[in-house]
Amino acid sequence: TTVLETRNLGKVYPNGTRALSGVSLAVRHDDFIVIIGSSGAGKSTFLRCLNRLVTPSCGEIRLDGEEITRATGRELRRVRQQVGMIFQQFNLVRRLTVLENVLVGRLRFCATPLTYTGSLLRYFSEAERELAFSLLKQVGIENLAYQRADSLSGGQQQRVAIARTLAQHPALFLADEPIASLDPKSSEIIMGLLRRIHEERGIPVVVNLHHIDFAKRYAKRIIGISGGGVVFDGPPGELTDEI
Ligand code: ADP
Ligand code: ADP
Repeated sequence: TTVLETRNLGKVYPNGTRALSGVSLAVRHDDFIVIIGSSGAGKSTFLRCLNRLVTPSCGEIRLDGEEITRATGRELRRVRQQVGMIFQQFNLVRRLTVLENVLVGRLRFCATPLTYTGSLLRYFSEAERELAFSLLKQVGIENLAYQRADSLSGGQQQRVAIARTLAQHPALFLADEPIASLDPKSSEIIMGLLRRIHEERGIPVVVNLHHIDFAKRYAKRIIGISGGGVVFDGPPGELTDEI
């Protein structure tokens, strides 16, 4: 079944850059997609449209059949919860602990946890803390739960970001260049984790990468983007050298 669908999606940024045009794609529940393309191709813009960090200029996005192209307010918050995303630069709250970072997205009463002093943990129930801890176990870093986020290596920080995203129970998991600033060994760990999340939780995953070798090894389906449009869509085995 289709989880998310775009029709004729386009984006022109306010400065006139046409980043995306005519992209029509369906993401199915059993998809593990890697999007490849050179820098500036439009990969990041496409992914950011899917969780509406970017509002498309034209076309349509449907999440579970419901149109979210111009969602705002409450509906937009629901989109962001359902479409989880991790980034190249992890985006953790540096001075909070690993466990607090996993929980931080669940604070419902304040938009900026940065203003708090003292531990954030007191705002959460025992059950919530245990759930967060079990997510850290799932990504293999429960031993780092009480370390400050900024004391971790890049690969470890990306694992925290994955746990934090899982804590929101997303229906779809997006990753924008998640291994671009990691060493090869950490990159394998992160790609392996994403693949495992897909298999164990049965949620579709869409990853932007510029490493074609990683794409070939981990993807079930590869989408090639160039000049803001789709130039390839198929299994890794059908990929030719031209892309
Ligand atoms: P990729 O992820 O494949 O590197 P992007 O989606 O980041 O591609 O960028 C696609 C095009 O849009 C590029 O020409 C880029 O410079 C431009 N672009 C990206 N973000 C913005 C922005 N916020 N404002 C203006 N142009 C942008
Ligand atoms: P709701 O918004 O209806 O509470 P959620 O999808 O946010 O539903 O959460 C579902 C359940 O999982 C809740 O019982 C919540 O307490 C628990 N939960 C989700 N994420 C975490 C987390 N990071 N830490 C602890 N508990 C969590």
